[in-house]
Amino acid sequence: LKELEKREIAQLTARYDHVKIDEIQSFADMPLSQKTQRGLAECEYVVPTEIQRESVILGLRGFDVLGAAKTGSGKTLAFLLTVLECLCRKEWTKLDGLGALIITPTRELAVQIYQTLVNVGKFHDFSAGLVIGGKELEFEKDRLDVINIVIGTPGRLLHHMDQNPLFTCVNLQILVLDEADRCLDMGFEREMNAIIENLPPTRQTLLFSATQTKKVKDLGRLSLKDPKYVSVHEHE
Ligand code: ADP
Ligand code: MG
Repeated sequence: LKELEKREIAQLTARYDHVKIDEIQSFADMPLSQKTQRGLAECEYVVPTEIQRESVILGLRGFDVLGAAKTGSGKTLAFLLTVLECLCRKEWTKLDGLGALIITPTRELAVQIYQTLVNVGKFHDFSAGLVIGGKELEFEKDRLDVINIVIGTPGRLLHHMDQNPLFTCVNLQILVLDEADRCLDMGFEREMNAIIENLPPTRQTLLFSATQTKKVKDLGRLSLKDPKYVSVHEHE
């Protein structure tokens, strides 16, 4: 079984550089693992949105990505597919601990991302958890050392990084800054920068926002290495 998986990974990664973004018509045309393809099919996601087509291929190739597209354009799936494939490619297991960290401005958005992840990622074996505060605080404390994908709000994440010895980011492979413009509008700049400083510099970073303000660009400069910019303009 391991051999089969290794062969699938090799076949997928061999396609990364040859895929022509303009020729992608459905998710089936994208070099995504069988587990992800099955998850997408069960959720009845067939045709990728523009931000998904463009940013996922760049993310698969390992680039840092700064993606801008208006609300409702499907940014969540864009970064979740990149995260799932990144960990899948590295044959990440529960024993490897935290592999992906997703930062989003509000508890509601964190819960939505978590639900999409649980649905689309159901055929993968990764564990996922929320760090958003409230009643679940004790649960968060106990489980953080075995969670592969953490989704959280900036203030609560920083609190855990400072206070919870089980929350270690030493193996982190990929960081997602979701709705970065809103995080900054809500005054989380200090928390975001402090979190980023705590993370291993070798990771991949994806930064998504609805708008490209100067503050977002400044955050990008701090957190991204030689990023690829994907900006989707609606033709209305
Ligand atoms: P954004 O973060 O850009 O505001 P979301 O990721 O929240 O947008 O997605 C908005 C809505 O579009 C969600 O209900 C989501 O399920 C749906 N959606 C995302 N991608 C697709 C797709 N490829 N096909 C159909 N619906 C999609
Ligand atoms: Mg969003």
